[in-house]
Amino acid sequence: MQPLVDLTTQRAGVNLYLKRDDLIHPTVSGNKWRKLKYILLDARQKGYNTLLTFGGARSNHLYAAAAAGALLGMRTIGFVRGEEYLEKSTETLDFCRAEGMQLYGISREKYKQRNTPRYLEELKGTFPTAYIIPEGGTTPFALPGVRELVMETETQLGFKPDYFAVAAGTGGTTAGLLTAKIPVLAFTALKGGGFLKQEILELADSLELENNLHLFTDYHFGGYARHTPELLAFMEEFELRHQILLEHVYTGKMLYGLYDLMNKGYFQKGETLVAIHTGGLQGRSHVF
Ligand SMILES: *Cc1c(COP(=O)(O)O)cnc(C)c1O
Repeated sequence: MQPLVDLTTQRAGVNLYLKRDDLIHPTVSGNKWRKLKYILLDARQKGYNTLLTFGGARSNHLYAAAAAGALLGMRTIGFVRGEEYLEKSTETLDFCRAEGMQLYGISREKYKQRNTPRYLEELKGTFPTAYIIPEGGTTPFALPGVRELVMETETQLGFKPDYFAVAAGTGGTTAGLLTAKIPVLAFTALKGGGFLKQEILELADSLELENNLHLFTDYHFGGYARHTPELLAFMEEFELRHQILLEHVYTGKMLYGLYDLMNKGYFQKGETLVAIHTGGLQGRSHVF
């Protein structure tokens, strides 16, 4: 828990902390560690020795799943969005291969079917011994690990903060936070992220939690993994001032949004905010 003090927090009169989940593990970092914990325990308990999962060519989830699988001595299979990745690579995919993950580049059309029951049945037929983890590790098993983050934070602070702030991709982490019954500011990383509201509440399995969910969809900077000079300038200034690295896909956008809200007087004086550094720094290098 790292307190962040600067002109913005002082003017807003808030106590801002950054929960440094980026430091949780060198290769299974941030929210992916939290999300995978109970998924992997479930897989092991059910006797599986192979993990099969999905992601883009720079996916933090694929990276974490490859690393965690190797650490646990499990075989890993990654389905990568885009058939060009049968041959083409990225630093993320190089790492996954080095950890022993078997990668398949699949067409964008096929990738769209990744959550349909029919496709999953087909996949189970082809890989009968694999435990299938959805994209981003977003399943009900991801929630208890994220809930532990909330309990840990409350123990560290000695009280409940007024808000948690988090970046949302699939919304699994946001859903996990909500199940701890605390107010959450979620900043969507993709354009048109309004649909996430329903998905998050369904995953959290409670529509009653709606009042605690504050979803901000306007800080996407052009869309998923896109960035603008304004975003990069904000990140550079933040990084220099606080000596903490961010990345442009999630944490940079979330903190940009949170700082914007502080500047606009969204919070009351004396409130305590905990922003979660969800990690993902492995994907930083191709922008900076
Ligand atoms: C995957 C990821 C997210 C998004 O998490 P969801 O549970 O998919 O919403 C946020 N930040 C980082 C760094 C990530 O890697």
